[in-house]
Amino acid sequence: MSISEEQSITCPGCSATSRVRIHRSVNVTTEPSLKEQLVTGRLFTFACPSCGRTSRVVHPELVYHDMRRGFLLQMDALGKFDAASLQSLESSLPAVTRVVHDSNALLEKVKIFDAELDDRVIEVLKLVVASQKAGDTAMRYLFEGTGTPSNPEGRDLRFTLLSSKGVTGLAVPRAAYDDLRTKLEAAGKLIPLSAWAVVDADYARLMLET
Ligand SMILES: [Zn+2]
Repeated sequence: MSISEEQSITCPGCSATSRVRIHRSVNVTTEPSLKEQLVTGRLFTFACPSCGRTSRVVHPELVYHDMRRGFLLQMDALGKFDAASLQSLESSLPAVTRVVHDSNALLEKVKIFDAELDDRVIEVLKLVVASQKAGDTAMRYLFEGTGTPSNPEGRDLRFTLLSSKGVTGLAVPRAAYDDLRTKLEAAGKLIPLSAWAVVDADYARLMLET
């Protein structure tokens, strides 16, 4: 079930306050139309009725649930998420649950799982790619999908690179992902994760160290 609630939003442009309905929970299996709104960013876009300025509004504890693919994403923008309080639910949870800390990470997980890839391998792959691009430390890679404009059916992995120099795109050969996956698997690193795992750059660093 999808749940939304009304909140007061103050426009950063004109300071007018309006009541806005924002999603607390998005179930894309029961409401597939929400999926497109999420991927295009429309779900998080608020247009001020007074001045027309658009800004981004995301529920800090948004839940994204895909029953068909079997995963659930819990946003924890404020660092207040308490997994222990949900322990009784654990037997009814989907096979894969993840906690993310911002909407970019949430969207990225959706794209990774939709492409039927392993987010742990993707996080390590991002570290590997970043290590080959020395110099810019303030960068962030976000997985976008597979295929490229010139080869939409291709299996190469597309990333967006956010850095101090702006936004650029990057394609990584599928073989790099497959090789890395094989290596991690052989090293016993791809064991099942507990509920509400955070799989991010820190997770990937830890995985490589231990
Ligand atoms: Zn306004």
